[in-house]
Amino acid sequence: MTDIKANFEKIHNKIPNNVLLVAVSKTKPVELIMQAYNLGYRVFGENKVQELREKYEQMPKDIRWHMIGHLQSNKVKYIAPFVELIHAVDSFKLLKTINKEALKNNRTINFLFQLHVAKEESKFGMSCEEVEAIINTQEYKDLKNINPMGLMAMATNTPDKELVHNEFRQVKKCFEYLKEKYFKNKADFKELSMGMSQDFEIAIEEGSTMIRLGSTLFGAREYKN
Ligand SMILES: *Cc1c(COP(=O)(O)O)cnc(C)c1O
Repeated sequence: MTDIKANFEKIHNKIPNNVLLVAVSKTKPVELIMQAYNLGYRVFGENKVQELREKYEQMPKDIRWHMIGHLQSNKVKYIAPFVELIHAVDSFKLLKTINKEALKNNRTINFLFQLHVAKEESKFGMSCEEVEAIINTQEYKDLKNINPMGLMAMATNTPDKELVHNEFRQVKKCFEYLKEKYFKNKADFKELSMGMSQDFEIAIEEGSTMIRLGSTLFGAREYKN
């Protein structure tokens, strides 16, 4: 049995007040997530659109749902009415679709640009230059229903801590560059979503403001094939 209370308490003591814990509940059943809800947690992250949508429908409406995984443009419409933050914007096309669906729902959708810093090619994300190129287009400036809040990234899955430090540092550097050049007066462009169960302590040292933890909170995931 997973002791949700003990897991959350243990983590709680390791994270500073200015770092938001996104509890990654993917693959976990509603009953287990409700245990975290009943402890007072309200911010949950999912990486699959259908699962996110189903849990949103079944669970209390004061939950703040974050989409943390790779998102396909044709699925944005299913989460556009309620999602609080989309972490992994990895293309201009996706961003334009998010804007369109946000407009349809008469709201503004918060998002983070996903940077690719890891060694694995299978991970998604853009370079800092690609993000900057998007920001500089008139088409981007005309998107009125999206709100950029910062950057998200995943580090390489490796025991090499120095590499992980360097990758997170790269994200922070890009953030500071963009902040200074384009978002200086935008107070809510301040988020760095970095760090998972295995590397969140390093991420916090490198300036993370949002950590996305799954297995350390809810137990290891079992994937059905
Ligand atoms: C699954 C997932 C996490 C959480 O992973 P854990 O190792 O279980 O903490 C964080 N971020 C993203 C994008 C994920 O898909």
